[in-house]
Amino acid sequence: MTDRFAPPPSKGCSATPVLKERGQHEVFCGLTGIIWLHRKMQDAFFLVVGSRTCAHLLQSAAGVMIFAEPRFATAILEETDLAGLADAQVEIDRVVTELLERRPDIKQLFLVGSCPSEVIKLDLATAAERLSAQFAPSVRVLSYSGSGIETTFTQGEDACLAAMVPVLPKTDARELLLVGALPDVVEEQAVGLLEAMGIGPIRVLPAPGRDSEYGIGPNTVYALTQPFLTDTHEALQRRGARHLAAPFPFGEEGTTQWLWTIAREFGVSAEKFAEVTDAPRARARKAVSQASEALNGRSVFFFPDSQLEIPLARFLTRECGMQAVEVGAPFIHRAVMSPDMDLLAEGPVIAEGQDVDKQLDRCRTARPDLTVCGLGLANPLEAEGLTTKWAIELVFTPVHFYEQAGDLAGLFSRPVRRRDLLKLEAA
Ligand code: SF4
Repeated sequence: MTDRFAPPPSKGCSATPVLKERGQHEVFCGLTGIIWLHRKMQDAFFLVVGSRTCAHLLQSAAGVMIFAEPRFATAILEETDLAGLADAQVEIDRVVTELLERRPDIKQLFLVGSCPSEVIKLDLATAAERLSAQFAPSVRVLSYSGSGIETTFTQGEDACLAAMVPVLPKTDARELLLVGALPDVVEEQAVGLLEAMGIGPIRVLPAPGRDSEYGIGPNTVYALTQPFLTDTHEALQRRGARHLAAPFPFGEEGTTQWLWTIAREFGVSAEKFAEVTDAPRARARKAVSQASEALNGRSVFFFPDSQLEIPLARFLTRECGMQAVEVGAPFIHRAVMSPDMDLLAEGPVIAEGQDVDKQLDRCRTARPDLTVCGLGLANPLEAEGLTTKWAIELVFTPVHFYEQAGDLAGLFSRPVRRRDLLKLEAA
């Protein structure tokens, strides 16, 4: 089967010395994840314990406000709470009790920590335990932090899923667990391909609701669909589950290698694998080659933001003909990232963490054809004549697996083509 893949580079990035930076960083906070998580977990409610800033962030990140009663809210810490004059624990109990009395549809409630709750050291874990005992068995209360202090926006999903792993029941069943909140249509494609190979039962984390939950145990094998799920990965290891390490399913190559890693684990033959994947692989290749014409031979620079940077650099260099100048990632977790680093050819600077001014200087010196960065950096860089792509779009857009491979290339090629057109018009 391996001869179906493009050969790996003679030397990948796994052994490249990593430039570690610990300075000022410019990223969104983990509250952002609530926007996609609340859609996946139909019986969940996210109660952010935070400030008016947190409430505004959620509201603007959610875009058009929801007309039905939403499944997230902010319990605002007032000045008396922050000054320690009010008992915030009593207030949390009151807000949660009122909420659960009004909303019997809620089966799991997440108390989500923020910068203010972290600064005043509000113990949400104890609050969650106390409230869980009070409202069990109809409601489960968990807590996690979405604070922006030293974290990046995709860590909110990781923290949420990691909080769920310890409370799932134990099982000895041999099951495949797909880990990561994907858009429903994308998740269905992945499950459909695996089931067509005869693989099952297949579970997904997060499950759509508590009714469809399952157990975890030593015979659970799991594949991550998102590279930022490192705490969840460690929580699953602690439950005895086994990780199937693979490149992430971005682009034709990443998807094929990810599927093939699972297929091998379940004893699927190369013939069966080819029968299921040949047609979508061909479609993905064609779509990528069309969408990536404008990218061929161009350079790309990644600022650390979404934690998708290394797998996306692998996709852009190996399938779209780009050259990576620098690939910055907020954190590099070797057990999760090595399969992609082995495929990303040696050459680019691999950076972990951020010292934004130094990184901006390197970017200005390199003058890449495309810079992938957060919203805060994109406008100033555009004003300096650099072409940018907002990293956050890569998380909000369906980009995984074969049928989205062309769209993924298109997300990067659109700003490059737009800049080319502007240059032509100006000439
Ligand atoms: Fe701002 Fe922190 Fe609230 Fe996020 S959690 S909105 S960074 S105050």
